[in-house]
Amino acid sequence: MSLKYHEYINSQEWQEVRKLALQRSGSKCQICGSKNSLDVHHNSYDNLGNERENLEDLVVLCSEHHQLYHEALAEVERLADQRLEERLLGGLLMFQFILRIAQILVLVKSALKLAK
Ligand SMILES: [Zn+2]
Ligand SMILES: [Zn+2]
Repeated sequence: MSLKYHEYINSQEWQEVRKLALQRSGSKCQICGSKNSLDVHHNSYDNLGNERENLEDLVVLCSEHHQLYHEALAEVERLADQRLEERLLGGLLMFQFILRIAQILVLVKSALKLAK
């Protein structure tokens, strides 16, 4: 991530936007509802610095689900980079991961709907 990103994450504007995202989620993890050690995750950096109008880019996650979310995303990227034969060999593993990610996405989507 660029220096600009780090500057932004330490800015007053981000602190306020972060607060808005937390308010929007009811200060709960959008997957499990935990109120402990919450992180605000960027689903997209397309609107960096302009999240006020794009609060749906932000997902509130407890540290456990934040980690799981990143692991799942990294796994998808890793699998997408593999050659087709390797992917077929790892098909079962991929299927399990896609299932896990689909579950997470469904949960996040329903949580976002509730937060609206
Ligand atoms: Zn959670
Ligand atoms: Zn994150």
